[in-house]
Amino acid sequence: MTDRYAVIGNPVAHSKSPRIHAEFARATGQDLQYGSIEAPAGGFARAVTAFRAEGGKGLNVTLPFKEEAFALCAETSERARLARAVNTLVFEQSVFGDNTDGVGLVRDISANLGVALGGKRILLMGAGGAAQGVAGALLEAGASELVIANRTAARATEFAARLGIKSSGYEALRAGFDIVVNATSAGLAGAAPPLPAGVLAPGVLAYEMVYGRDTPFLAAARAAGARACDGLGMLVEQAAESFHLWRGVRPPTADVLARLRRG
Ligand code: NAP
Repeated sequence: MTDRYAVIGNPVAHSKSPRIHAEFARATGQDLQYGSIEAPAGGFARAVTAFRAEGGKGLNVTLPFKEEAFALCAETSERARLARAVNTLVFEQSVFGDNTDGVGLVRDISANLGVALGGKRILLMGAGGAAQGVAGALLEAGASELVIANRTAARATEFAARLGIKSSGYEALRAGFDIVVNATSAGLAGAAPPLPAGVLAPGVLAYEMVYGRDTPFLAAARAAGARACDGLGMLVEQAAESFHLWRGVRPPTADVLARLRRG
């Protein structure tokens, strides 16, 4: 029987994950089906249990269920525990949860964009699930400094204290970062975090996790002469890591990313 996987979230109709995993399966000769499940608020655990009972082998978890997924797992990886959020479920004897967002971002920046993270000063904006999912991986990749800034300062303080790093209000930020990662959802609402002038500048990599649209952060980065990149590569790379967890095979990502960019 063909192994079944899916992405679960709400909303989920826009998700590119079914296309990405179908392309990975083709490229690696793996026999699998990958669908999408829209779970209602309050119905996440029930939907996961039903999919598993029908023989499903694993799930990708997206907004707003990553924290709920973490709570549901019998076992979790260290990186999922650090993030307190799970984006990949593996169904074996028990339910195992992992978080592949961090490795996805690190691979996109280092392998696809060609920017080594070792010794870099990084500003991470946001304190939600996405920021929490990537902070540990950025530190592990050798960042010399990681500063967290968030609209709700108390969330940034708590998050930074947990990792033993610095947090800052937006207004107190100064120039000097090599990489600025926008892990906020501001771009979805046509807004950008209030960065002081000078933080985005020539030589800075401005990384926007939102993909599929031009955002005010990307526009501000370009206007300031920074290198502006969206989060499509991270999406493909986190999917590749999930695929590897499920199938034990690492799919090639460059062609899939290029095709997604073409639309
Ligand atoms: P989330 O848990 O809802 O957190 C949203 C974050 O954005 C919070 O820190 C929030 O600040 C901040 N924020 C929202 N509006 C803002 C504004 N106008 N100005 C400044 N800060 C604002 O969401 P998430 O799961 O972390 O996801 C964040 C984004 O990353 C989403 O847009 C998602 O699409 C994207 N993402 C991309 C990938 C990828 O593979 N490319 C993977 C994961 C996530 P407060 O704490 O003050 O509310």
